[in-house]
Amino acid sequence: MQSYNSFRVAQQQIFEAAKLLNLDEATIKLLTSPQKEFNFTLHVKMDSGKTEIFQGYRIQYNYARGPAKGGIRFHPDETVDTIRALACWMTWKTAVVDLPLGGAKGGVCCNPKKMSERELENISREYVRAIASSIGVDKDIPAPDVYTNPQTMAWMMDEYETIINQHHPGAFTDKPTQIGGTEGRRDATARGGVITVREACKKLGVNPTGKYAIQGFGNAGQRAALLHQEILGGGKLIAASDSRGAIFNSEGFDTKELVQYKLKNGTIADFPNAKKIPHESLLELDVDILYPAALENAIHDGNAENIKAKIVCELANGPTTPEADIILSNRGIQVIPDILASAGGVTVSYLEMVQDRYSFFWDEQSIHKIVDEKLTKAYHRVDEAVRDKKVHPRLGAMVVGVARVAEACKLRGWV
Ligand code: GLU
Repeated sequence: MQSYNSFRVAQQQIFEAAKLLNLDEATIKLLTSPQKEFNFTLHVKMDSGKTEIFQGYRIQYNYARGPAKGGIRFHPDETVDTIRALACWMTWKTAVVDLPLGGAKGGVCCNPKKMSERELENISREYVRAIASSIGVDKDIPAPDVYTNPQTMAWMMDEYETIINQHHPGAFTDKPTQIGGTEGRRDATARGGVITVREACKKLGVNPTGKYAIQGFGNAGQRAALLHQEILGGGKLIAASDSRGAIFNSEGFDTKELVQYKLKNGTIADFPNAKKIPHESLLELDVDILYPAALENAIHDGNAENIKAKIVCELANGPTTPEADIILSNRGIQVIPDILASAGGVTVSYLEMVQDRYSFFWDEQSIHKIVDEKLTKAYHRVDEAVRDKKVHPRLGAMVVGVARVAEACKLRGWV
């Protein structure tokens, strides 16, 4: 597989969508560039007593449709270009589900698996101290992403409120419910994805209760497994993986047991009654539905020919390379692209912001209902664009998102 610069890939996608939409040069230039970037060093006291320096980023890619929105990830391989790409994709993601928000992403280059709870708290608070004046409910609202979670948001919100000396819970989303979080946020990304799978199964005549595999058994992957019963009426999870290993069972796993095991042991690699398989082969299993729910570029020109799934639902951000998109499309495999399939998370983040503003909270059923309506509508809007422009689904989703953002830029008089 060739190596990828994710931001070049993201820009290329914009050029293709812009061509189909006949956008002018200034609009293309605006949409292929981040509006604001923050690059900073974090000095963090470690348990050893020593100070370590980490690189931090926050990129507000585009805020024509509303305040910038997107997660913060803690990952050792973070670069400014991966954050740029992810911030760019957030812009189209919020637009595809028609939320009044822009797109952003942040990150810290660090290895959270080697850090203590206290060190993680220190790094979270230090991140907010570096960026506090540039974020907030009307500017930019962070959320969790890879290796960050509601506890990270709780520390960050607390630091932010201490700095501004007032309550402002809506400045971060996916917080614990006790301090301004919403019901239904934890399974929101997976819920949105499984809802789009339900719609795709109906359209393509695929059996929704058939076999499926999940690459990446983090929060989104685990929740997708648990939601199959509720949303699709069943299904057989025959393989799953995390960073430490991939496992297979042709009879299907008990999804509740597997999630319990992961929560207790931190990995599923040694789950009993399972065959260990190579990471790569999980993606190539004979399943109806495949969920890439890990990191970028998992499906590439080296393995796309071997994918056997009928539907690929991208719960991760950017898991399919541009070459693989074309191969999958030519082979008649339906990809539900990340900016649609993983938009349930940010949809509920938006609902959390609205509830925080009103200081009034809805029950879980009300949240689920809105997610279902928004994701179903977005799925069919994208499908319409795919048919209208005769393009593969990612480009169809890009056309929908880019058109909405371009329109907002024009109305504001930016272009
Ligand atoms: N990190 C999630 C995503 O990539 C959620 C972002 C948010 O809720 O702001 O969609």
